[in-house]
Amino acid sequence: MARPDFPRTLAEFQDRFASEEDCRRYLVACRWPDGFSCPRCGARDAYELATRGLLQCGSCRHQASVTAGTVLHRTRVPLRQWFAAAYLITTHTPGFSAAQLQRQLGLGRYETAWTMLQRLRRAMLRPERGRLSGVVEVDEAYVGGVEEGRRGGRQRDSAKSIVVGAVEVRGRGSGRVRLAVVEDLSAASLASFVEAWVEPGSTVLTDGWQGYAPLRRGYDHRPSAVGGDPRNASRLLPRVHRTFSNLKTWLKGTHHGVSAKHLPRYVDEFVFRFNRRRTPMAAFRSLLGLSTQHAPTTRKMLYAAEPTVEGSTALMAIVG
Ligand SMILES: [Zn+2]
Repeated sequence: MARPDFPRTLAEFQDRFASEEDCRRYLVACRWPDGFSCPRCGARDAYELATRGLLQCGSCRHQASVTAGTVLHRTRVPLRQWFAAAYLITTHTPGFSAAQLQRQLGLGRYETAWTMLQRLRRAMLRPERGRLSGVVEVDEAYVGGVEEGRRGGRQRDSAKSIVVGAVEVRGRGSGRVRLAVVEDLSAASLASFVEAWVEPGSTVLTDGWQGYAPLRRGYDHRPSAVGGDPRNASRLLPRVHRTFSNLKTWLKGTHHGVSAKHLPRYVDEFVFRFNRRRTPMAAFRSLLGLSTQHAPTTRKMLYAAEPTVEGSTALMAIVG
């Protein structure tokens, strides 16, 4: 089945998902891309039960759920509102608040918006699958250390957190990204991160820090002997440095700073958005939980879309 284009505008989106029926059809198409086939007897005809999200096999009467494994399972919120919420979060604002969502969707209750947002956000925090490969830049940065609340008298959370990052080199641009908050700059933290997220045998570019020394086993490790001047590091490892700077801008601009305690969650969300910046449809489906039953986004899909956009422009495309 050819993948449909992702709607480019809100109007297109509304046309495509104009009714509950449209949304249901889309769910069925995601679940059974080649048409319904009964998981029990293989029959290909089914009818929908009055209960939302259940199809009953026309021959053996087996009931198959359309929404199992998705955020839409057992929810009373209309599908259209879920779809709209996922669309908004995919395409527009990085840090949608529950109040914004409530207003945008015209929901009666704040709690409904809050719950939806929680569910959608959880989908973003699912760990990324697959390890980076090819040529990968790795470095670490201090992030955070901003005030926690704006009410007077709150103490400042002055401790910076350490974020380690890996970015695939794709021509002059960047491929996929992995980021993690780590305890310290030891080999146990840094080399372990690389081992967890970069395919063995890949070429790994780092600075000369000893925390990366263990990578000479298992990788084509190319440490560069740069001095203490951080400007050298950003010249030698431009992609990972750009990623850190985008992350910091995003945390500051959109979320007005994030405390160390909550940083890992935001870092995960950043990675989710960054890695799907050119495949909004994949992001949309991931958010709704519709991609879990199928093959994960392939590299081809990730890189097919457009020529690489550099730096902050690329980020603005996903978060702006
Ligand atoms: Zn059947």
